[in-house]
Amino acid sequence: MNPIAFAIPVFFLLIALEMWVAHRRGLSVYRFNDSLTSINVGIMSEFSKAMGGIVSVAMYVLISERFGAFVWDTSHPMTWITALLLYDFCYYWVHRTGHEINIFWASHVVHHSSEEFNLSTALRQSSTGFLFRWIFYIPLALLGFPVKVFIIVGLIDFVYQYWVHTKLIGRLGWLEYVVVTPSNHRVHHGQNDYCMDKNYGGIFSFWDRMFGTYADEREDEEPVYGVRKPLHSWNPLWANFNHFDLIWHQVRHAEGWRNKLMYVFGKPSWTPAENDATPPFSGANFERFDTPTSSRLKQLALFTTIASAVLLIVFFAVQSKLPTPLRIGFCVVMVLILAGVGRAITRTNLTKPNP
Ligand SMILES: [Zn+2]
Ligand SMILES: [Zn+2]
Repeated sequence: MNPIAFAIPVFFLLIALEMWVAHRRGLSVYRFNDSLTSINVGIMSEFSKAMGGIVSVAMYVLISERFGAFVWDTSHPMTWITALLLYDFCYYWVHRTGHEINIFWASHVVHHSSEEFNLSTALRQSSTGFLFRWIFYIPLALLGFPVKVFIIVGLIDFVYQYWVHTKLIGRLGWLEYVVVTPSNHRVHHGQNDYCMDKNYGGIFSFWDRMFGTYADEREDEEPVYGVRKPLHSWNPLWANFNHFDLIWHQVRHAEGWRNKLMYVFGKPSWTPAENDATPPFSGANFERFDTPTSSRLKQLALFTTIASAVLLIVFFAVQSKLPTPLRIGFCVVMVLILAGVGRAITRTNLTKPNP
């Protein structure tokens, strides 16, 4: 069974714990619509991966078995330590590419579209990343690391990143130099000028120090979470496709092939106008997206999210026994249900967003 099935209840328990600690400290770190959307995006991402993720695993197996240079002893701890280090190094480049090349940003932007920073933000993962991310891990396949090692270190890297999405843990001294922490990951999610394109590490932060992309959190300027082209929607399907849609429109209306290519492969902030300097970011002018949602709709949305999470665990338990059309059909229905809930709570925004 997919180990994520065992992690889901732990993720939910930790969210409850974070809410409780925040409540005791008199802090407000969750907003219903934003956090529910993060969880829905996460569930949708797992159903999407269940439909197509097997292709990336198959490609890894094909490459490692045909071209793998070395045979690794999986009973030796050094095999796992080396694989984890190399995986995290590749992750750094996947992640950096996801921020610095527009077409990859279109996929990764999902994770940054929350305007809050809490454990639910960690679950806001892309539903399209699985299509290409495996390409960045080909070096591990070429070195011959067995697919079992690749999958397990990948899971360790993913699960590690959960706890760093919190505002409740401060700076952690010397650990900031070695690993990704809540403090340096808060910087990664900020849209302030000093936060842009910083702190790409998965488990280890020393990659950022090596490649000049590290920034410390500033006490005088708290990160403002979110992206500069805000999503303004609670629909997890739109969260996954809005930036692809934007690129499509930009490419269609751009003049000349160079401009069209730059909209796809240039930096996300690229524009055809030379000297088009981005104005300095001002947190004071930033208004978080919110919508008034009736308590009845909130209850219905919360029930659907919890039921979807339970169905995801059940799906993980039985998917290997299901015929492919039924498996894919079920995933499609779940994606549509989650999109429907997101659309319903977004459409209540009949007036100006609440401050
Ligand atoms: Zn990122
Ligand atoms: Zn993150």
